[in-house]
Amino acid sequence: SNPIEDISRVKSTELFEQAKNYFPGGVNSPVRAFKSVYGSPLFIERGDKAHVWDADGNEFIDFCCSWGPLILGHNNDQVREAVIKQLPNGLSFGAPTQLENKLADLILSNNRFIEKIRFVSSGTEAVMSAIRLARGVTKRDKIIKFEGCYHGHSDSLLVKAGSGLVTFGETSSAGVPKAFADETIVIALDDETALTKAFEDFQGQVAAVIIEGVPANNGLLLQDKSYIQFLRKITKENGTLLIFDEVITGFRLGFEGAANYYDVQPDIITYGKIIGGGMPVGAYGASNEIMSNISPDGAVYQAGTLSGNPIAMAAGIAALTQLAQPGFYEKQEEKTDAFVTEIRNFIAENNFEVKIFSISSIFWFAFTELDAIKKADDIIPASMENYKIMHRELLNRGIYFGPSGYEVGFISAAHTKEDLTKAIASIKEALVEVFKN
Ligand code: PMP
Repeated sequence: SNPIEDISRVKSTELFEQAKNYFPGGVNSPVRAFKSVYGSPLFIERGDKAHVWDADGNEFIDFCCSWGPLILGHNNDQVREAVIKQLPNGLSFGAPTQLENKLADLILSNNRFIEKIRFVSSGTEAVMSAIRLARGVTKRDKIIKFEGCYHGHSDSLLVKAGSGLVTFGETSSAGVPKAFADETIVIALDDETALTKAFEDFQGQVAAVIIEGVPANNGLLLQDKSYIQFLRKITKENGTLLIFDEVITGFRLGFEGAANYYDVQPDIITYGKIIGGGMPVGAYGASNEIMSNISPDGAVYQAGTLSGNPIAMAAGIAALTQLAQPGFYEKQEEKTDAFVTEIRNFIAENNFEVKIFSISSIFWFAFTELDAIKKADDIIPASMENYKIMHRELLNRGIYFGPSGYEVGFISAAHTKEDLTKAIASIKEALVEVFKN
């Protein structure tokens, strides 16, 4: 195939140079900085349905979807109208509103796994609060997390984490007191022996085990159902709470997320991303009994000036109402299966050393010969060089993937057959470029 020219980044580059004067690394969240892919970050001007346009006027089909929230695509009619309708009534009160009740009712009446919920403003906050709740309930300090799982940037959880940390090759953060990190036990995924040993080594000390519904911040690490069921069993036996971090999987694997997928009842579930329809919302939920420990009912304190923000609630209600319609998820899955299957067939025909893994409407390209990747260690960092080439080739063909090979792609309800057909053709061409030599 003919070499394709790089897209123009004149305006984006200029804006990025400006931004460097204002923000560390020129960004307000690290992985946006395009540090592990070619070129400077694209400054996005607007999005509509599955498409985004950057400051240079380049148009892309978007598979990043704001890292997951936009399961309905950009500028969804109902979400936009709900926000516009709410705007003249005020932006924030710091007092209860009916909208909070409405969103909570929509969630709780369609979810068998939690009885009460508390809204916060980000996934980080949701998980941080869930960990505090687990510690408060069990009166224990230690937590177990899994290598590669990312749970936001609170202190206890920035140990051997995925997302931007693995992308930049420093999987733990500076600035986390050793005393905090010592309370976080990190083990590999998919390893029942390691889990059993951790419970033996720290008997009676583990407040919670936290796992991503489906680990999706260090590649897509699909776990066996039997392993998750074992995790449920061993936590129960040890009086340890099981936390499902469903910030990505919540309302993505279905309205009841990964809990339903595995048929496992976690003790606490955290949500983010989709729950706010693109606005900043997170949440955590559990049984009435566990949630009764939260202030003002109980002794575990957690609060937020902007929690339950009316505009964010209005967006969340409008989004989740659409997701709750019968057949919504089946349609997303069918679409994704067809997309993934066509690419998988192409890869097989060409004998390329790359796999595409997927679940629900999430997908991930892994440059590997392995047929399954279940833990962080199975990913060869050098394989990210291939992602880097693929990412550039895709941008040049009008396809926007997240700027890290450790991050997953998302298909939204707004991706049309035409969008997906064009994306498949571009992905095929990009893979040919990757494996040219
Ligand atoms: N948990 C998981 C599983 C996540 O994927 C993320 C964000 N990618 C977070 C927590 C943190 O959410 P936020 O970025 O909204 O703080």
